[in-house]
Amino acid sequence: MEPRQDIRAGCGRLAPSPTGGLHFGHARTFLIAWLASRRERGPIAMRIEDLDAARARPEATAAALVDLAWLGLDWDEGPDVGGPRGPYVQSQRRAIHDEALARLKAAELVYPCVCTRAEIERAASAPHAEDEGPTYPGTCAGRSAADAEALGDRPFAWRFRVPDGPVVWDDLVLGPRSLDPARLGGDFLVGRNGLGPSYQLAVVVDDALMGVDRVIRGDDLVPSTPRQILLYRALGWTPPRFGHVPLVLGPDGRRLAKRDGSIKLATLRERGLDPRRLVGLLARSCGLADESIDSAPADWIDAFDLARLPREPWTADPEAWLRLGSFVVAPDAGGKS
Ligand code: GLU
Repeated sequence: MEPRQDIRAGCGRLAPSPTGGLHFGHARTFLIAWLASRRERGPIAMRIEDLDAARARPEATAAALVDLAWLGLDWDEGPDVGGPRGPYVQSQRRAIHDEALARLKAAELVYPCVCTRAEIERAASAPHAEDEGPTYPGTCAGRSAADAEALGDRPFAWRFRVPDGPVVWDDLVLGPRSLDPARLGGDFLVGRNGLGPSYQLAVVVDDALMGVDRVIRGDDLVPSTPRQILLYRALGWTPPRFGHVPLVLGPDGRRLAKRDGSIKLATLRERGLDPRRLVGLLARSCGLADESIDSAPADWIDAFDLARLPREPWTADPEAWLRLGSFVVAPDAGGKS
């Protein structure tokens, strides 16, 4: 029997991966996701996406919650506050993911694949832009689910059979989109034998069963969306609405990444930055004000409109960073430098 999806009106989620400190770009995307939910008066679930055992760090989970609370965001359910759709830590949901994978196997929508070990290792993480690999040539597609038995101890993964043809959705930020997953990566991994689900399967199962109605995330995940829509259909669920937020670029024109340690939220916090200043800057970048106004996220709920969000990437202005810095460093900022 398939688990009930039970979508909750306006329900959104914040889904950080605890792999390193959250940075300025995350702050902007999470703020937007939070405002979109609060605007619709829907519940917000906090979910920790820690499936990549090699990259997830236990201390980063607590740090992500601290960073986002410092920014002024809150959530109605999550690992720290509990809630009706838990557990809210992805690695604790293995049995739920396995049940979904079993349904895909029973329907012959997946096959065991022995190719590309490196890809199998990467599959637990969301594939951000530069992680998108070549299209899978279908080497193992002739196998049936039952053929897994005969593989014995050989490491293998479960690949989803992608049907031909475009998948369309009306993106809440980018407008109508059409992508053909058969040309974009082809059959993709949903599970690693003995090692649990891939990001693609886990995120669909968890968003569906947490009743998420709207997914707001960075636009580097656009290529994952048609794959996830196919999984919703395969599992008999309705996809949520998706909105992809253009990323923040650094002064060098490259996307801000965790490597840019200086703009980690923890660094800004330790330097004594007033989060209201940061929220003001982010709100301006979202088209909510012409000027940066010191403010709390909640101050922008009524004015917030996803449709008014700029569709271009936002380039963070290094001068603005410096100005932020000069405002922030209070002499008594806890003795940290
Ligand atoms: N946990 C993923 C990440 O931080 C986000 C996945 C998603 O929003 O679908 O990259």
